Amino acid sequence: MRKFRSTKNLSFQLVSRTVGAISICLAIAFISLYWAIERVIDNDIDDDMHEDIQEFRVVFSQGGDDAVTNEMLRETLGGDRQSIFLRLFDNNNEVVYTTDLAYWSDVQSDAQVVRRLANSPAPSELITTNPKRQESGARIITGHIGPDRVLQIGESLESRNDIMELLIGTFAFVFLAALPMAGILGWIATRRATRGIQEVSNTAREIQVGDLNSRVQINGQSNEIEFLAGSFNRMADRINNLVNDMREMTDNIAHDLRSPLGRIRAIAESALTGVQSQENYRASAERSIAECDRLIKLINTSLDVAETEAGVSRMEVESVDLAMLADEACELFDPVADEKNIELFKELDRNKVIQGDRQALFRMLFNLIENSLKYTPSNGRIKVSVNSDSKAQYLEVADSGIGIPDNEKKRVFDRFYRCDQSRTDEGCGLGLSFAQAVAKLHGGEIRLHSDSDYRTVFRVAFIHQDQATVA
Ligand code: ADP
Repeated sequence: MRKFRSTKNLSFQLVSRTVGAISICLAIAFISLYWAIERVIDNDIDDDMHEDIQEFRVVFSQGGDDAVTNEMLRETLGGDRQSIFLRLFDNNNEVVYTTDLAYWSDVQSDAQVVRRLANSPAPSELITTNPKRQESGARIITGHIGPDRVLQIGESLESRNDIMELLIGTFAFVFLAALPMAGILGWIATRRATRGIQEVSNTAREIQVGDLNSRVQINGQSNEIEFLAGSFNRMADRINNLVNDMREMTDNIAHDLRSPLGRIRAIAESALTGVQSQENYRASAERSIAECDRLIKLINTSLDVAETEAGVSRMEVESVDLAMLADEACELFDPVADEKNIELFKELDRNKVIQGDRQALFRMLFNLIENSLKYTPSNGRIKVSVNSDSKAQYLEVADSGIGIPDNEKKRVFDRFYRCDQSRTDEGCGLGLSFAQAVAKLHGGEIRLHSDSDYRTVFRVAFIHQDQATVA
């Protein structure tokens, strides 16, 4: 038996998995967002610095060193000496002019780069460094602004880092707010989803303690849990029916065993009273054996019917030609029919083949023909036919016998049921139940009717197997 975790446990697992999945998604989303924003800001800073160099180039071309130094001063006006510095070099890496370097004292120039850039207008060079007094780091550009002049501009990355820190703070807030909310919503959704499972499990428990009529309430929503509940209810119905059938059958068997057992007892008692002849003892023993055989047959047939109806008997499925089956059965009954002076004849359409258990089908047909022979007086007629139409293939046994009264037509298929008119004949009332069970097992059914030529017609319909599957 499979071990299931309790639904509470399941809810917890589902919620923790949902929260875990949401956390991973949020983290991935944040890392991507962080990386993208950082790239955008860095590109912006670099573009601005390139533009600055470009502007100084124009200023230098228009006003020489004086104009450039004025512009450099203007850039750091307002006491912004902590976040920016500017330094002008000649081609010997000698400083021509510099703004306040109080916060940038350890930022050196690369003499080689300065020399190279001063002599020819090569592209500007950008680096990121960590000067001692700039906690956030800095971005430094060195660029040619005119003959023999190189400008170095340094910018603190503090405001860029502030934005990134703000982003981290916002994410942490979103993360901390979203997770408990996801947990609560997940918990509510999971509880709602598992409520159906809980109901199925409660119902199973009720059935387990003996309330076989307990069922799960279906609310008509077509979701997986309702399908499960539907299947569970159908299974419980089937078990209930089987238990009832079993109960009914045990009652019937007990009832039907009583008379033969009573007869066996009577035979034994009469054999014990007084001294009897050898022939009488022999006759008593023979009658006892006959009654025992009848009992064994009754019990075996009851079990066969129960197994076939429950669908638990092992079916050996093969192709069965209905006409050939009818040929075999009629051949077996020909001598009995002759003896009773009954005309047993066939009307068989050939090549009507079904997939099924040959032995069970043969026993079904055997019972139907045996009944016809039993309940048809001398000079009567029995017709066995095989035919088909667009819906099904048919196997039919019709006789001109005593017929079955209309009010008993439905009941003859019940186990142990025997019509009043045939109570005196030999039989136990199980032949038609078995035939019916076999027909159903093959996805078919037996119909009983009368027509102008035949008083009793049993017609077994096997639905075409492209329209139905064998049960
Ligand atoms: P049984 O062993 O009594 O024949 P069945 O289940 O085969 O049990 O049949 C149930 C009852 O149906 C019979 O007792 C009989 O009364 C009636 N019956 C079955 N077949 C026929 C028939 N061909 N003609 C008339 N009555 C029939």
